[in-house]
Amino acid sequence: MSKTEIRHFFIFAFIVVFCVSSVQSFAAETHANSVKVILVGDIMIAHDEETGKLIERGIDPFEPFSRHFQAADLTIGNLECVVANSGKEVRKPYNFRAHPRVIPLLKKHFHALSIANNHSGDFGPEAFAEQCDLFDKANIPYFGGGRDLKAAHTPLIIEKHGVRIALLGYCEVFLRSFAAGENRAGCAWSEDDERVLADIRAARETHKADIVIPYMHWGDEHDPATDRQKKLARKMIDAGATCVVGGHPHVVQETEIYKGKPIIYSVGNFVFNGFETPETNTGWALRMTLDKLGVVEWDTITARLDGRGVPIPDLKALSPVGKRGNDKITMQTPKETEKRMNE
Ligand SMILES: [Zn+2]
Repeated sequence: MSKTEIRHFFIFAFIVVFCVSSVQSFAAETHANSVKVILVGDIMIAHDEETGKLIERGIDPFEPFSRHFQAADLTIGNLECVVANSGKEVRKPYNFRAHPRVIPLLKKHFHALSIANNHSGDFGPEAFAEQCDLFDKANIPYFGGGRDLKAAHTPLIIEKHGVRIALLGYCEVFLRSFAAGENRAGCAWSEDDERVLADIRAARETHKADIVIPYMHWGDEHDPATDRQKKLARKMIDAGATCVVGGHPHVVQETEIYKGKPIIYSVGNFVFNGFETPETNTGWALRMTLDKLGVVEWDTITARLDGRGVPIPDLKALSPVGKRGNDKITMQTPKETEKRMNE
């Protein structure tokens, strides 16, 4: 090699080393400043139902998903029953109350639970308030409900890897009396859109959240997303929500990207017995990677509920996947996503 060639070689080598090291430091930074969240749908573990009886016998219905839970920094679910000893059945179809024996399991698997739904009030405000006491004592963070109206509408703030996340939960499914009052325990109600939008703005401005996730309990059972869901979801994103997630219809619903932000209208059932169709026995565990700017990427693991209401991951099922900057949602298996992420 001539002197010029040697000089060119060193310049070239320097550029290569510089590029590789800056890519590596970017990757490390991305990892350090991002949070992996897994969010699941309706969890019904009432003591006189099959799922509650499994727990009484020492069987953990969350176990088949524990590998995926452990891979996340934050595990979130919707508790579709009240955990209490007290209270009296409210007149309505289906009253679900779980025995406090479920608390260690909830504590083991979840970092936060939404208590905004059409079963959290099944045994009245007294049982609802007892649940708040039990969760506070066990140090289980919850959102979407509280001892009064103000508490119910206050976001749960979780900070992980420097990302400040606000969780809000709302119900708008019958009975309206489950809503918290000025001095009554209950859940946050979303029929007053303006109140919801104000909560989202407050999460950003007052609580200084980087990420705001409203977890909705809404829609019609067994049906696609309604116009009402679509209108409210878009308004929430316009008000500052990072994404919108929902449950209640007992089936998974549509997903869409609105202004670059994902909306997953319903993630369906998660732990729930008593359903007979393949649609009602299918839910999604939504996985999202978040940074200060929002959702980096997300996918869904299909859960097939067995005859006992226990979710089994189906890693071969096609389900929606999205990525920052992509306006299109693709269908992919979780196995394909994992492969892509490890490349
Ligand atoms: Zn529900």
